[in-house]
Amino acid sequence: MEKRNKLSNARRSVLKQPGVIYTVRCPGTHCDCSHFGVDCRRGFFSLWIQAIYGRFFANKLDISSYIDFGDKPYLYSDPVKYDGDLNFWNYYYSQQVDQHQGRIVPNNYIENYPLRIWKRSHFKKVHRSAVKDLVLKDQIRAYVRLLSERCRRYHTLGVHIRGSDHSVEVETVPLERYFRILDKNLKKYEKFFISTDDSKALTLLIKEFGEDRIISQEAVRSENDQAIHTNMQHPDRYRLGLQVLADCYALSVCQAAVLVHSNVSYAVLLLNPKMRYTLLESSRSRRSRLRTGALYTLDRWGIRKM
Ligand SMILES: [Zn+2]
Repeated sequence: MEKRNKLSNARRSVLKQPGVIYTVRCPGTHCDCSHFGVDCRRGFFSLWIQAIYGRFFANKLDISSYIDFGDKPYLYSDPVKYDGDLNFWNYYYSQQVDQHQGRIVPNNYIENYPLRIWKRSHFKKVHRSAVKDLVLKDQIRAYVRLLSERCRRYHTLGVHIRGSDHSVEVETVPLERYFRILDKNLKKYEKFFISTDDSKALTLLIKEFGEDRIISQEAVRSENDQAIHTNMQHPDRYRLGLQVLADCYALSVCQAAVLVHSNVSYAVLLLNPKMRYTLLESSRSRRSRLRTGALYTLDRWGIRKM
């Protein structure tokens, strides 16, 4: 029987053919697009983590990789702005590999499912192999830096609050918990950087702690429980991606962070694996995190079977 963490010989020989470019896309399986078939509805950092895991996977096999979020429309695709190009990854990052110069082998679902494993050793390993050498496009880097510099200039606590549709995926953390933590940290930090898709949460925090203390981005936020990225009334898809990307990079340069069970929070730790952080979670989320961690360890030891 195959070990879960081990590639089959057939797959390995496909991947190790000369000139293979391991191509990372939404694999369809376990995604809305496998049911509806047209566009991929996943959030930016769900895809980002998958892209990073894809790079990590390819690097381990010592083969080239290419991120191709352009095989169909994604929520961040902005073909009008980008001359027909659907691949939103290329709006933000430069890629060294030209996908037309090799033999394309698409990823499959199990190889880089964006599983969140909350282990320092895992963050470090993935960061070293697949995150450290990402290259932001010049104008993107300039935008990201502007926000990051505002956080870096002070002793700043980064705070990620995931609102809108998040309660569908995990139990949300009540806002009162954030208030208590921020109250406790008023003396320790000069500023709180608030990254949130929830416009009400931001307004309440500004009211409570004052405009001077809060750093936040001018951004499109949700007024209700619909996620911003699935709301097609926002025509500027490129900007939605840019804003969530800048939030994540800015969180990663704060002195410490308050995080939740979300892909943005998780990506912060892949960008900065040394980050000091507090994870706010319900007891159910905690159990599920510990379980995932344990299964991951068993997988690595090759104990768990398919
Ligand atoms: Zn999809």
